[in-house]
Amino acid sequence: MVTTNSYSSMQMRFDEANMKLYDVIGIGFGPANLALAIALQEQGKLTDKVCFIEKQPNFLWHGGMLLDDTTMQISYLKDLVTQRNPTSHFSFTNFLHHQNRLDSYINLKTFYPSRLEFNSYLSWAASHFNDFCHYAEEVTDIIPIIEQNGVEFLAITTRNSEGHEQTRHAKNIILSPGGNAKIPDVFNDVFQHKNVWHSSQYLMNKDKIKPGEKVAVIGAGQSAAEIFVDVQNIPHQPQVDLVFRAGAMKPADSSPFVNEIFDPRYTDLMYQNTPEQRSAFLTEFRNTNYAVVDEPLLNDIYGRLYTQKLKNETRFSIKNNTHIDAATLSGDKICLTLRYGQHNSQFEKYDHMILATGYHYSSRPPLLESVTQWLENDIARDYQLRTVETFKPKIFTQGINEATHGISDSLLSILAIRSAEIANALELS
Ligand SMILES: Cc1cc2nc3c(=O)[nH]c(=O)nc-3n(C[C@H](O)[C@H](O)[C@H](O)COP(=O)(O)OP(=O)(O)OC[C@H]3O[C@@H](n4cnc5c(N)ncnc54)[C@H](O)[C@@H]3O)c2cc1C
Repeated sequence: MVTTNSYSSMQMRFDEANMKLYDVIGIGFGPANLALAIALQEQGKLTDKVCFIEKQPNFLWHGGMLLDDTTMQISYLKDLVTQRNPTSHFSFTNFLHHQNRLDSYINLKTFYPSRLEFNSYLSWAASHFNDFCHYAEEVTDIIPIIEQNGVEFLAITTRNSEGHEQTRHAKNIILSPGGNAKIPDVFNDVFQHKNVWHSSQYLMNKDKIKPGEKVAVIGAGQSAAEIFVDVQNIPHQPQVDLVFRAGAMKPADSSPFVNEIFDPRYTDLMYQNTPEQRSAFLTEFRNTNYAVVDEPLLNDIYGRLYTQKLKNETRFSIKNNTHIDAATLSGDKICLTLRYGQHNSQFEKYDHMILATGYHYSSRPPLLESVTQWLENDIARDYQLRTVETFKPKIFTQGINEATHGISDSLLSILAIRSAEIANALELS
């Protein structure tokens, strides 16, 4: 007898005769699952019983932030494969060779390609797996299929942009959803307004900024700094304020000894620590990745402000040491109550506000709600969620395990190695 659980509104049945049972379904097709597809292919495990599901209509790496003149914050040698297999077809170097740009790239003398070029590289790699990826489908539910002895499979439900729903069944899933926009509570009343965007939506909305308008960029990290510069470069020269709580924008520490924490071997060191040690470690190295800016960009911004002083202009300004006490709407204007120090408040009106306030990475995303009762509160070193014995499917997660596997987890640094570790752990029929 096959039964269904009560968590889903859909009545779900696994009909072996008619339904294909996938060995692996990867949820999300960003760099993490793309690296996994390559690792599976290189291990001979990429069969027609493997597929990936991606909600975007095609491969795109942080499309809202693919700004001109921005570069990678990581060496191209930390691409999808090189640290595991430098001879792989999918290396960044081989991509350049295929594009007839290798010689020119060498002349650039840099380890740090532009983000536009890295997106091209990732898209080129992804194009090899078009037959394995279902684009334009969002996974909306993961439902356990229960038989006498427990949960046997998972039913993965998706919805496309026309509202059409589809279900596929899998023995194993690899959940790699990336992060969600983090919106501080103070912006709750204004966030839905058409002139307020998270940084992840910046390029889709930038054209709305009209001549003479005033823009607030909120945040003190890399995205905030990049958008602050990009708005300044808009030819019709809008006004722009960069607003943040910290005393100053600070540089990202990318010095060599510190950079070792992104080496794949650090995953073991992090994982074997106690929860307290892990947390202390993350705090110690926060300034490699959070609320910090690459030093060349800091110098560029400082130079721009200096030139502005020389010209006696006031088109852009930095409001540091500034708390936002309230954000309200007045017609289409966004009104911010800004506080400097304890009592010194000021009211500012803006035409647009961009929240470069970061991302939230949940190690237990809402998609896992229907299976929560079978999950232990733990994840194995090989990224598999521990479950009770009566739960047969394997659930791996990537990109959301910073607390247990280290700062690299949400980044690109360990893609080549982590993907092979997960591919190794998958015992496929
Ligand atoms: C602007 C920006 C620049 C960055 N630059 C660097 C850098 O230089 N170096 C570095 O190491 N890191 C960088 N990062 C960090 C970034 O997280 C990683 O580069 C990388 O994108 C992580 O890959 P991922 O696959 O884990 O997540 P993502 O790239 O976020 O991919 C997740 C994918 O899952 C899809 N998805 C989510 N939910 C669903 C669902 N329910 N159904 C179907 N599909 C779904 C999403 O559409 C997305 O395509 C940057 C981040 C940003 C925002």
